[in-house]
Amino acid sequence: MPGPLQGTPIAYHDGKYVVPSDPIIPFIEGDGTGRDIWRASRRVFDAAVAKASGGTRRVTWVETLAGEKAFKETGSWLPQATIEEIKRYRVGIKGPLTTPVGGGIRSLNVALRQILDLYACVRPVRYFDGVPSPVKRPQDLDVIIFRENTEDVYAGIEFEAESKEAERLREFLVTELKATIRERSAIGIKPMSEFGAKRLVARAVQHAIDKRRSSVTLVHKGNIMKFTEGAFRDWGYELARERFARETVTEADLKGGDAGGRVVIKDRIADSMFQQVLLRPREYSVLATPNLNGDFLSDACAAQVGGLGMAPGANIGDGYAIFEATHGTAPKYADLDKVNPGSVILSGVMMFEHLGWDDAARSIVAGLQGAISAKRVTYDLARQMEGATEVSTSAFADQIIGHLG
Ligand code: NAP
Repeated sequence: MPGPLQGTPIAYHDGKYVVPSDPIIPFIEGDGTGRDIWRASRRVFDAAVAKASGGTRRVTWVETLAGEKAFKETGSWLPQATIEEIKRYRVGIKGPLTTPVGGGIRSLNVALRQILDLYACVRPVRYFDGVPSPVKRPQDLDVIIFRENTEDVYAGIEFEAESKEAERLREFLVTELKATIRERSAIGIKPMSEFGAKRLVARAVQHAIDKRRSSVTLVHKGNIMKFTEGAFRDWGYELARERFARETVTEADLKGGDAGGRVVIKDRIADSMFQQVLLRPREYSVLATPNLNGDFLSDACAAQVGGLGMAPGANIGDGYAIFEATHGTAPKYADLDKVNPGSVILSGVMMFEHLGWDDAARSIVAGLQGAISAKRVTYDLARQMEGATEVSTSAFADQIIGHLG
């Protein structure tokens, strides 16, 4: 039996975390390559916190089970105890999990998001010097995407073509609402609410204020879907006016003038946004998006800086957050000490920033940059970098620790 837990739980009062110097943080190591990645990441986290705090802070990690390991040990892919534990300790970090095929649970990640109402999917995209990229100036892109995580296609209702439901719905829409729908169509519905849009945009704007980011861009397809995507834009502007009148100014009101330290709120149609991040990346900072657009945009931006395999992610709600790898379990490399732990390590950077431990976060970023600049990197980067030496997952962690800022 493990001894009693040292450490202190993170508390949450009046919309703010109260973080002790010895927080208890649950982790899910993840399936497949998750085991190697977690072992390496944890060493990096502990070294960075010790270095940044001069030994006055440390994390008490507590393992909590999900995925294959949970199924083997408890018969459940996502045990109730895991949910209770994350609720109790509020902030957790996880490696990739196998999505059980034909099991009773659709996706463990989606289940966790829904149970804890983690309504913002947050994906920062920044360039690490030396990483091979498909564009000429990858360093110009430095954005953080806040993607709505509970509505739009995530709450989508779909009916198969020729199903009883689709036929009934078509009948209703055609006769009652005078819609034009071809016979035998499949039908999908995407709900988007004022509540959902505003709480997401509020989080994006607050982040921009806290981190002194220059702008928040509302990304939408409102020229075509006026009452869902268009409303997302309108609700976003409304929220900024209602809640952040002093700290923000709209691009339209600014008329090209100086924002005077205020966060500029602007909007772009989604297709134009994909061009803009390629052609004028420096003009964008925080992006707030509905669910589907954000899904595409996050991966497109990550690819632009060459970092798809190292992209971090977080799912954040009010008083709860889970930080996670964005790639899968890469099962063919499981336990080979081979893959890149960068995605979980950078998710840890986000976690420390979320908890206000910016010094530890900066230290890790410097360490990662140092390892990449030294060209001692895992296979995925080594195969694209001229003159690089391939190192194992654990040796890459050693490199990062050796270069901590
Ligand atoms: P995947 O695990 O992401 O692997 C696809 C390919 O991406 C790998 O073969 C490898 O490319 C590269 N890759 C992934 N992680 C890497 C890392 N850490 N370092 C370097 N390269 C990495 O996708 P998948 O094979 O489609 O999915 C496997 C399982 O993961 C499935 O059960 C899926 O449901 C699950 N999944 C989980 C999550 C999550 O938990 N967040 C997300 C996506 C998928 P090369 O072959 O070119 O080396």
